Amino acid sequence: MASTQNVKLYLAYWFQLGKKLVLANGRELLLPKPVMEGGRYSRQFEECWQKIADLEGKDCYLEGTDTTIQSLLSPGWDIYPCARCNMPIATVELGLPSIFCPCSDLLYWPNLELPVPRSPVSTNNHLTRIKHRLDNHKSS
Ligand SMILES: [Zn+2]
Repeated sequence: MASTQNVKLYLAYWFQLGKKLVLANGRELLLPKPVMEGGRYSRQFEECWQKIADLEGKDCYLEGTDTTIQSLLSPGWDIYPCARCNMPIATVELGLPSIFCPCSDLLYWPNLELPVPRSPVSTNNHLTRIKHRLDNHKSS
């Protein structure tokens, strides 16, 4: 079972590459922009996540995959890096490893010249440090 944290990260990474979230079996497509803001998930992203939470992940999945968020948050599934591109992908916990990654329909991928999608955590620390430095500077 993937943690909520990891599912959010999984979506955030793919959103940064332009993959959309499919809601209600295709009746709605969401792509929050920006994904990250000030080193954390953006309001748009959190709103999108709230929609998923309201539906308990039912019939919500990442464009190009058929694994629902509901499955990801249930036993038997987890998120692992893709062997080809290192992006997080839905994988069956036991049994055959999945070889399916949404990267299979991205042209020119993996592309080492593009910035790698990021997670908010490290950026956050980095920004906090900068902010501390600025605050210290102001008060001295
Ligand atoms: Zn991949």
